[in-house]
Amino acid sequence: MHAAVYRGGSVVSVEQIPTPVIGSGEILIRVEACGICHTDLKKIEYNLLAPPRVYGHETAGVVVAVGSGVTKFRPGDRVVAFHHIPCRQCFYCQRKIYAQCPVYKKVGITAGFEPAGGGFAQYVRVMDWIVDAGVEKIPDGISFERATLVEPLNTCLKAVVQCDPQPEDLVIILGQGPIGLMFTMLIRRTGARVAVSDTIDARLELASQCGAEFAWDPRKVDVAAEARRLTDGRGADLVIVAASVPGIVEQAMACSRPGSRILLFAQTSATERIETSGADLCVGERTLLGCYSASIDLQQESAKLVFGGEIPVEALISHRLPLVKIRSGFDLALHPGPKSLKIIVQPQRWS
Ligand SMILES: [Zn+2]
Ligand SMILES: [Zn+2]
Repeated sequence: MHAAVYRGGSVVSVEQIPTPVIGSGEILIRVEACGICHTDLKKIEYNLLAPPRVYGHETAGVVVAVGSGVTKFRPGDRVVAFHHIPCRQCFYCQRKIYAQCPVYKKVGITAGFEPAGGGFAQYVRVMDWIVDAGVEKIPDGISFERATLVEPLNTCLKAVVQCDPQPEDLVIILGQGPIGLMFTMLIRRTGARVAVSDTIDARLELASQCGAEFAWDPRKVDVAAEARRLTDGRGADLVIVAASVPGIVEQAMACSRPGSRILLFAQTSATERIETSGADLCVGERTLLGCYSASIDLQQESAKLVFGGEIPVEALISHRLPLVKIRSGFDLALHPGPKSLKIIVQPQRWS
């Protein structure tokens, strides 16, 4: 089969590698669509993990083989698969901090080599503990591309649940890439007011269509001043940082009110440093939160929101590319053009 193999030094090459072999309790999926996610891009661009690996973890496809003992799935089932599933028993799981569970950190889907998701390949092997709890069937009539968005939507929903915005709160979302736009859609349905910022006009337009009451270009608008203007001089009740550019956390602080929450969602690189005033946190009684990855408790709800169409995630898909063009997909995701948003790789396509 063909796979996009990370070879180190930021290099990803499309190569022929053996189709994975499954064991008992496992399933083999023919990958029809896999989203390009910034966490994978960072691992590739900054060489965060040792090569070789096949990345890609927003994976949807068709079950083509099942190992002995598998009763939940059969060949022909259309499915979407999560690459991490927690043990539900350890210290962290008991406290529902699933992403810190040692079992959760183990990747359970692979196209070969050290398991790393494998979705940027034609076939993936899904290991037994993922088959048990981390695979959802895709209803008839729902495209594989839409189904790939269940996992990223789950990560955003988890953050929204954690932040618990209240009706009438002013929530500012910095960054309106695919993740920022999902936040816009999800925050909107809580009844809170949404204001967003981004430097790409098309993203601001889409944000307005997705429910943002205010959509600002931070180069033209003083976001902090606008936030205060809309809140009797206080500032935003919640700020979600959905982009990672230098100075963005300071900007988030500047537009937040005393006693507010600031959520870091895009700061996934251990080498990135943030600077902010300690007094804004201490004297200003602000809470700085982090949130990462998906929650198994929200898996069903995320699937329902995506499949049922309540959250119109398909509007976020801008490009569908064959595997051989994956490098240009990475470039587009790293350096978005005026129209690029979510980029989906379709490994069964040749052109
Ligand atoms: Zn992701
Ligand atoms: Zn656990």
